Amino acid sequence: MVVEIISVGTEILMGNIVNTNAQYLAKRLAHLGLDCHFQTVVGDNPARIKSALDVAYSRADAVIMTGGLGPTKDDLTKEMLMEYFGKRPVVDEQVLNFLEERSKARGFAKLSDGMKKQAIVPADSLILYNHHGTAPGCVMERDGKICILLPGPPHEMQPMFEECCTLYLNNKSDKILVSMIIKCLSKNDAPISIVGESPVADRLAELLDGVNPTVATYAKEDGCLVRVTAAAKTHEDAIKILNPVVEKCRERIGKEYIKFIKEDVD
Ligand code: ATP
Repeated sequence: MVVEIISVGTEILMGNIVNTNAQYLAKRLAHLGLDCHFQTVVGDNPARIKSALDVAYSRADAVIMTGGLGPTKDDLTKEMLMEYFGKRPVVDEQVLNFLEERSKARGFAKLSDGMKKQAIVPADSLILYNHHGTAPGCVMERDGKICILLPGPPHEMQPMFEECCTLYLNNKSDKILVSMIIKCLSKNDAPISIVGESPVADRLAELLDGVNPTVATYAKEDGCLVRVTAAAKTHEDAIKILNPVVEKCRERIGKEYIKFIKEDVD
């Protein structure tokens, strides 16, 4: 399954906040073995959100969207998506009760219209309850298209993704990805020409064309990084695929130029 990430929020588009949600989700999708080829940022504008969705579904099966689920007028994502997926808006009694209790406990006589809006969810969809905030997320499916809608605040988005979405996505994926990192010495550690990205890449030569595992080099301030990534059904199988290639990389680079080799568990 191919997944795309769409981050909704004018604040991200304007550079006022850093899109850490996309970074978090991209990493998690890679660990779950799901391909993600594109990420999009779009402002809180229904026409442009629709256009971003049309483009995403022209090349992916599933979209994970974050942001725009809140109580304010400019939080339009859910309404826009219900229309897009032809889902009837219905009141979720569990969310409504929770919001009313919360409002009472805070001394408000009645729930504001904005808060009430958060209890409206798409019919025939999986509702993701928010244990760290007020806006529920949801998973909508129609004609083979999937959309996972998550709140914008990272402290709400991350637990909702971990508690509700990983299992759902795991069932859609038949592989996991495991990476080993080979960290090379930097110029400060070893003033010898091998430490730059290009000499390391030269030594790795045809290993960089591998398909499973893939081998890629990244220039970093503190020394070149080589990432070896395998796709397999289990972690054990992935390690079996990785080990011989990691060993070849180690020999080619030269162990005297390597700071450490470890599995990437971030
Ligand atoms: P709220 O209930 O707060 O309105 P929401 O689901 O509508 O939540 P947004 O309005 O898009 O989400 O974002 C709320 C806050 O969450 C933003 O002000 C920002 O601090 C944070 N946030 C949103 N999107 C991202 C993102 N992609 N990366 C990091 N932080 C984000």
